[in-house]
Amino acid sequence: ILHWRALWVWKAMPSEQTRISAGSIDPSCVSRSSQHLYRANKVADISPTLLESWKRYGELHRKCAPSNWTEVLEESSHVNSSCKFMIYVETHEGLGNRILSLLSALLYSMITDRVLMIDSRKEVGKILCEPFQGSSWLLPADFPYGEPWFSSLWFPEIVKHAPDLGQAIDKNFSVPIVHLHLAHVQRETDKLFFCNEFQEPLSHVRTLAWSSNQYFVSSFFKVPWMWRKLVTLFPGSRLDIFAQLSSLAIAPANSIWSLVSRFYNSYLSCSKSRVGVQIRTHSRPDLASFDPLVNQIVSRCLTSHHLLPNLSSSSSPSLIEFEKQQQQQHQVDVSVFVASLQGKYYETLRDEFLQNGTASEELVSFHSLSSEGAEWHNLHQASLALAEMWLLSFAHHLATSEFSTFGYISRGLARTRPWMLKIRGTELHPEGDVCYLSQSSEPCTHFPQQPDCSSARNISTEHREWIKRHLGGCQDQRGGLQLL
Ligand code: GDP
Repeated sequence: ILHWRALWVWKAMPSEQTRISAGSIDPSCVSRSSQHLYRANKVADISPTLLESWKRYGELHRKCAPSNWTEVLEESSHVNSSCKFMIYVETHEGLGNRILSLLSALLYSMITDRVLMIDSRKEVGKILCEPFQGSSWLLPADFPYGEPWFSSLWFPEIVKHAPDLGQAIDKNFSVPIVHLHLAHVQRETDKLFFCNEFQEPLSHVRTLAWSSNQYFVSSFFKVPWMWRKLVTLFPGSRLDIFAQLSSLAIAPANSIWSLVSRFYNSYLSCSKSRVGVQIRTHSRPDLASFDPLVNQIVSRCLTSHHLLPNLSSSSSPSLIEFEKQQQQQHQVDVSVFVASLQGKYYETLRDEFLQNGTASEELVSFHSLSSEGAEWHNLHQASLALAEMWLLSFAHHLATSEFSTFGYISRGLARTRPWMLKIRGTELHPEGDVCYLSQSSEPCTHFPQQPDCSSARNISTEHREWIKRHLGGCQDQRGGLQLL
């Protein structure tokens, strides 16, 4: 109760650092109450209907989660108890993809009264707090995961052998479990999940398993039955659904938060302005490519759009004037947090400002938490990635890389529209602007699925109008879908 109250009373101005009163902190998950106090933007207002639904969902979780899983999974057919389940399958993707998929599974579970459970052997359960008071979302140790050498890296044995949606349709949904394959590539039968007519029969299946790498929240709004539920949960015209959902459900565990909080308070909190820059290259850069990329990002994006002060030119004040100025005030004006797999981007940015200074003589400091070099998919890297997503989200001004789900998480948490860097491979897009202002803080659904079913074509006028107003293409992915 206390942490929700802390959330409502927060009204910070940019660049204010606020002390957190110890009384409002939940010791099992410090970030839940504190993270909002670090953000430059005022916390997301959570819709009262969503809050109410979240409360009811928590009660359902407490009632159903401590189940006898062998019984649940072996039951021959349809539901006869009131408890239904959703098993979130943690795939071997980057953390950004996994969080987007998790939030989609959670929202679907909320509107279909399914208790969401996650794999306790994997990383997400280790780096995030438990979202429900008095109930755990971790599958228990006695869950029948199967023999380790038989089960694939991702799937519990039971999920691997579960019927998919096509097979469930063939069996008239008389199955105890259905595995929904909702990744970026889908077969025609998997896509049928987004058809209205299969939602009702699916609701009779006791357990669903969700394996995906996409943010399907935008796609849910195209399904008439889901749309009706969702517009009640998220009324009004401001659709910052990621911000609202993550504010309720996603909070870094204490082990990660201690790193985030220490880093923020050591390096970022004391400056007048904070800037976050995420440089995501999708191939390994060679040494000669760092300087040109950083020069372009600085001159054609960060300074030209006033995220950072201009670099010095010959008309700048002299060294003596600079000395006098520094003797009067010692505060760093801008602190820049740089996230990238390649530490060299951070070093090159820092050196550029160190060597040239700024025209206004403002001081800019640069900071980075890690330089992993490549993707490893282990707990250590996932922990660092989560910490960096959160550190980026504290910025007053944000520049993130196109197409990166890592960047989507930070902008969604920050509830801000960042500048999007048009990085192709290890270079910036050669023509036109190298960055542009994002149209929304919502993640882009890279591969929304277009099922071939009548319900996808026959929608009401009201629904059609809503779609016209609130759903659009993505700026960084042709064929993508985004809530606006
Ligand atoms: P995307 O590939 O940019 O869409 O982002 P994902 O988060 O899905 O996958 C990239 C993965 O690479 C992350 O989960 C991290 O493990 C790693 N990674 C990429 N960029 C960074 C970074 O800036 N910092 C850290 N610590 N890890 C990164």
